[in-house]
Amino acid sequence: MNRIIKKFLDLTDYTYTYGDEDELKKHLPDNINSDEFGNFFIKIGENSETMFCSHLDTAAFEKQKVQHDFWKTEGQLFVGTKGDIIKRTYKNKKGESIEYDAKEGTLLGADDKAGVVIMLNMIENNIPGLYYFFVGEEVGRIGSTHALKKYKDIFKSYKRCIAFDRRGYGSIISRQMGMQCCSNDFVNELSIQFKKHGMKFENDPTGIYTDSATFMSIIPECTNLSVGYFDEHTEFESQNLTYLIKLANTCTKIDWESLPTKRNPNPFKTEDPKRKPKTQGDLTDDELWDIFIDVDDILESIADVYCKNYKDFIPEKEMIYYDYNTENLTSVWIHEDGSITVDNQTFRDYNDLKEALLFYFDYNEKDDNYVDIDDDDDDDDYVDVDDDDDDFNFKNNMEKMSNEFTNKLDMTKFLEDIIIYVDSKNNNEISAANMQKILDKYNKKIESIIYWIYYNGNDPDKTYGITWDNDNNIFKIYTN
Ligand SMILES: [Zn+2]
Repeated sequence: MNRIIKKFLDLTDYTYTYGDEDELKKHLPDNINSDEFGNFFIKIGENSETMFCSHLDTAAFEKQKVQHDFWKTEGQLFVGTKGDIIKRTYKNKKGESIEYDAKEGTLLGADDKAGVVIMLNMIENNIPGLYYFFVGEEVGRIGSTHALKKYKDIFKSYKRCIAFDRRGYGSIISRQMGMQCCSNDFVNELSIQFKKHGMKFENDPTGIYTDSATFMSIIPECTNLSVGYFDEHTEFESQNLTYLIKLANTCTKIDWESLPTKRNPNPFKTEDPKRKPKTQGDLTDDELWDIFIDVDDILESIADVYCKNYKDFIPEKEMIYYDYNTENLTSVWIHEDGSITVDNQTFRDYNDLKEALLFYFDYNEKDDNYVDIDDDDDDDDYVDVDDDDDDFNFKNNMEKMSNEFTNKLDMTKFLEDIIIYVDSKNNNEISAANMQKILDKYNKKIESIIYWIYYNGNDPDKTYGITWDNDNNIFKIYTN
């Protein structure tokens, strides 16, 4: 029997759950090390900057004997588990019984023994790297989270972390936990390397998380690669063994050390500014801190944002705001003279910023739902949202107006009109007045498109290339 297949079948003889992983030690290299959390690791070579990882636990509820079942599809050998297909029913929302196929039997555990097998083969072939076999991935990345906390300084010296724990074929995961986990350059180069050896691996931004996500804040390039399993976490789980053999061999030929390192592992850690001595017109640091607190309050109250480096505030330092909804980052600077930059808009002072925000959020004053900013210049400047109606707040306002814009709008036709306008003027800008003329055709208000744009973070990717420049009262159009 093929060595890779034999190893895979040995490792999947039972469904090992979190706590059982130690029983797998007999299948790992003799000189493997373990840490106090139960993770196993081994270092091959001296100068590698690559870490590889997989996990030893299976997402089963209990340890059970696995009955392997083999079949061939289009010349590819698959393994799954034995078990009868049975009919089960569930009640849907309307109370109707819906029948579905279920299977008796166990999980296979290809998630993630496929990854384990690939790494064992690389170790046997002396491919340099730090190899980590984690425990408890399926119960919240317990093993890797503990390891990171305790051995941060060790992991910090690595440039890339490759997990082998993705379903299907050919994915290079570039996003995990809602954030970019590796750079485009890294993905492209890895893709080229696989192609050189006859395998198609491409960018896949749909990852949720695996152990490599644990290291995103300290290791620049973190990814997760497909290992050819399907229907993980169910009794229908299967593994393409033909694919596993090919991938295991290919992984010994990839030049992991040559992969580029481009991503900033901690985008929230910004550089300290080089500050000049105070000159006339500059405010004191205490005054600037007060401005920052006010700006922070107002931003948090109008949007679901959070300052990721709040504690590190220094005037002139880039402060990073993370938007929980859109996952966008926005930068804020408080300058020495008290002026404020939010994203790429600068405001002369705090009052200027408040005014701009009033413009966006105070459209409905008649209903008494508005931003009430205390302007008598004492310390309690704040955003006062009328709380009579709990559901009513600025975000809802924005959502409502945003929906008003997109509601029953034929976006294709609307965009066509915009492109025609832009082409005819040979200028990628539309004044608010001229945009209103286009919108008249669709019975939409100018405010609603501004809110729609703001609701989407003024992000051309999400607004079909239309952004709003409030300073100049114009829309900007990106046509490619
Ligand atoms: Zn997994």
